[in-house]
Amino acid sequence: MNATPTANAQRVETAGERTGGCLCSRIRFTARGPAVFAHTCACPHCQKLGGTPVMWWVGFETVTWTGEGGEPTWYETFEGEAKRGFCPTCGARLAAIDSDIPEIGINVTALDDTSGPDLVPIHASFRDNAVHWLPPVPATEHNTAG
Ligand SMILES: [Zn+2]
Ligand SMILES: [Zn+2]
Repeated sequence: MNATPTANAQRVETAGERTGGCLCSRIRFTARGPAVFAHTCACPHCQKLGGTPVMWWVGFETVTWTGEGGEPTWYETFEGEAKRGFCPTCGARLAAIDSDIPEIGINVTALDDTSGPDLVPIHASFRDNAVHWLPPVPATEHNTAG
């Protein structure tokens, strides 16, 4: 693209704030900061929780819950270490908090706009547990990590 430096700066600013929410829209959020370590995960928890062979995750520095439903309902997958957030009304998966990760995890599928190039997974976690009939995500984190 023929972007001027000014246009680039504006794009970065816009990319620093994203909105999303659950299917019924009672829970809404604004995520701020760069998209960190977009990846898929095929671990047994993601499969059971998501009702899907693979979940799609990305981290953000801060997430503000803005909808009438407030925060998601949290389910502790590992007590005191990891919890996963969902909407108690529609069941949509929204977020993850892990004690060893500084960012808050967001299910990319909960974002209003999932098209950003920084949301393309650079890593596939728990490949050993993945279904054989979906092609794996290429591990590109070593090429793209800044
Ligand atoms: Zn909902
Ligand atoms: Zn997982």
